[in-house]
Amino acid sequence: MAIRLVVTDMDNTLYSWIDYIVPAVEAMVDAVVEATGFPRIKVVQSLKNVYTKYESNEYPFALQESSIYAEFPEFASFDKLIIDPARTAFSAARKKYLKPYKGVVETLTALKEKRVIVVALTDAPRNPAQQRVKHMKLDGWLTALYTMPGFTFPEGPDGSKLVAPDILLKNERGAYEAACPAIELPREWEKPNPAGLKKILSTYGLQPHEVLVVGDSVKKDIGVARELGCHDAWAEYGTYVSHEYRERLDIISSSAITRRHAAHVFETGQQALKPTRALSNFAQVLELVDTL
Ligand SMILES: [Mg+2]
Repeated sequence: MAIRLVVTDMDNTLYSWIDYIVPAVEAMVDAVVEATGFPRIKVVQSLKNVYTKYESNEYPFALQESSIYAEFPEFASFDKLIIDPARTAFSAARKKYLKPYKGVVETLTALKEKRVIVVALTDAPRNPAQQRVKHMKLDGWLTALYTMPGFTFPEGPDGSKLVAPDILLKNERGAYEAACPAIELPREWEKPNPAGLKKILSTYGLQPHEVLVVGDSVKKDIGVARELGCHDAWAEYGTYVSHEYRERLDIISSSAITRRHAAHVFETGQQALKPTRALSNFAQVLELVDTL
C-alpha cells in the first residue's frame, strides 16, 4: 500500500457547503427581519457587507458589526433581542442541513483502521472549519485541520467585547475547538498556492507519491496536488449544484466568498488542468488508497 496520507478538502468534498449555508443564512435573515421589522433587502445587504469584509458568510459576529447594529447602539439588548434569535435560527438550519456526504464517515473510519493519516486542507477560516468538523463529528477521524487564520472577537469603541458573555466563557473553556488540532496557515497560502500542502508533506515526512489529494476544485485542489507531484482525485460529486441553490447563494453571498468555499461553481467550461481521476463518491478514496 503506497498511499500513507490523504489530504482532503472540506467544503463540497466532505459535505455540501452550499446545501447548508444557503438555508442557514436565509433562516438568520428571516429571524433578523422578524426581530427588527426591517425590510429583507436592508438586512441582506447589511450582512453581505460584513461577510464581504471578512470574506466569509460564517463570520459569527456579523450582526454586531453590521449597519443594523449602528441603529441600536446598546449591545446587551441588541444581543438578546436580535442576535440571539438569529444565532438560534442559524444553528437550527445548520443542524438540519450540514451533513457529511454519504460514505464519508465509513471511509474515514476504514482509513483510520488502515492507519492511513487523513488531514483536511481548507481555505475556510479556522473557527467555522473547527465548528463544522465538530458538528459532524469528523474531528475524531481527522489527524489535523489546516485552515486560514481564524476570527477575533469584535470590540466596541471603548474596548469592550461585542460578544455575548456565554460565548466568551465557552471560548475560554475551549468549547469551540475540535478534537483534532487546527493549524492556521498564512492568508497568502490559500489554494492553489501549494505552500500548505508542502508544509503538510514535510510535517509528516512523506514523499509526494505517498500522498493522495482529494477536492472538488480543479484549480485549487487538483492544482496543488499537481504542483507538488502528489496523486490527485477530483471530487466531481461535490460540483453538482442546482440552479435554484446557485441563485439563492448569489443573493446572500458575494462571489469572493463563494469562490473560497465552492470554487468549482466558477469552474465551468475549459480548464487548464485535467484531473487524473474523477470520483462519484468519497468512498472511492478507499479503493485508490489500496490500488495506487
Ligand atoms: Mg471545496
